[in-house]
Amino acid sequence: MLAGRLPVVVFGPRAQVTLNLSAAVPGEALVLARSGDTGQEIADSYGVPLSALSPSQPGKLPWGAVIRVSFKDVAQPSQGRLPPGVRVYTARSGDTLAGVAYRHGLSVTELLSANLNRQTLDKLAVGERFYIPPQPGLMVRIKPGETVQGLVEAYRTEAPKVALANGIGLPNELGVGDYLLLPGVLATGFQRELLARRERQQEATRLAGVQRQYERYQAYKQRMVENTLERQYALQAQYDKFLAYQNSPARQKLIARYEAQARYDAAQQAQREQVRAQVSVPRGVSSVRSASSASVGGLSWPLRSYRVTSRFGEADIEFHRQYFHGGVDLAAPYGTPIYAAAAGTVTQSGSGDYGTNVYTDTGGALIVYGHMSRTAVSVGQSIARGEVLGYVGCSGMCTGPHLHFEVRLNGRTVDPLGLLP
Ligand SMILES: [Zn+2]
Repeated sequence: MLAGRLPVVVFGPRAQVTLNLSAAVPGEALVLARSGDTGQEIADSYGVPLSALSPSQPGKLPWGAVIRVSFKDVAQPSQGRLPPGVRVYTARSGDTLAGVAYRHGLSVTELLSANLNRQTLDKLAVGERFYIPPQPGLMVRIKPGETVQGLVEAYRTEAPKVALANGIGLPNELGVGDYLLLPGVLATGFQRELLARRERQQEATRLAGVQRQYERYQAYKQRMVENTLERQYALQAQYDKFLAYQNSPARQKLIARYEAQARYDAAQQAQREQVRAQVSVPRGVSSVRSASSASVGGLSWPLRSYRVTSRFGEADIEFHRQYFHGGVDLAAPYGTPIYAAAAGTVTQSGSGDYGTNVYTDTGGALIVYGHMSRTAVSVGQSIARGEVLGYVGCSGMCTGPHLHFEVRLNGRTVDPLGLLP
């Protein structure tokens, strides 16, 4: 009954089989014996009994002997008898399991029951073959050690129904590898198994995705930690640098200088304000105003035209290096009139510390006009702002005609430029 299903030529496991194709008939293979081959070896290599060989001889064969191997009456593992009425459907592009089942009037469970070799509910491949049973039932393949009767009992079905569905009269008409249709039995367990397998695969895919996501997250976290550390190291380095600089002698010196400057500026400002308050001049003296070009309530300039040659505290000449310069020097030609910078009383006129000089008391401050060529006032005289006190000269310690102009407050000299308009 296997004849017709078998190929014309069967390639056996033996590598050097020589085939005489012209002599081959369906269900047979022709084997060319090699030196030392035995009949039993050839039978074993094809999985057939010795009786299937022709000539049937267990012992050594002469080299070149042609042995006919018949597969008749041998249950061929790769082939199997199908129950009558079972058709084969070849899957086409776009087919689905449910679609194939529906097209043949079957449920998916019924289709699967006839195709127990399926591994999955998904991935239906083009060209895949499906058995379509004429009636719903479980189609099992008889394995070695199984019998039709045993399967009928195992699946608790009825022998007459099975015999009818499979077109067999006697149970032993089927052998190992043949298909047996058990009508009415359905592979619900098989479908459940496939569904469970699909769920397991989906779960595995999902878990793999979760794992990848988790790994990406871990990598991201690691990067963040590294970045944060880097930033912290950078800040620390910056701070260390700052500390080193802050404690450096250079910075300490700079701070000391700034502080001294600030103290000096503050003292200067305080002095100015004190002098402004004390040197304030009574208004309404018209002759003074006409003589002085500018007056803003403090001092007015004692010369109308001058050039500042030496400032307060300046050490520009040897004399100023030896003696602190407590005023400003205003250079002007000999004989240039010197005007009172503020109203007051003359306390000294004539020879003094600054050659021919005039001292006036404003009622709070003492003003010195030095190095005159001659004075125009006398001691005790009240003078108004702008009144002529004398004339520019170069008496005393002098290098050229100029006026030494000095303001003393409580016995201490202050910078007159800060008090002038
Ligand atoms: Zn001077």
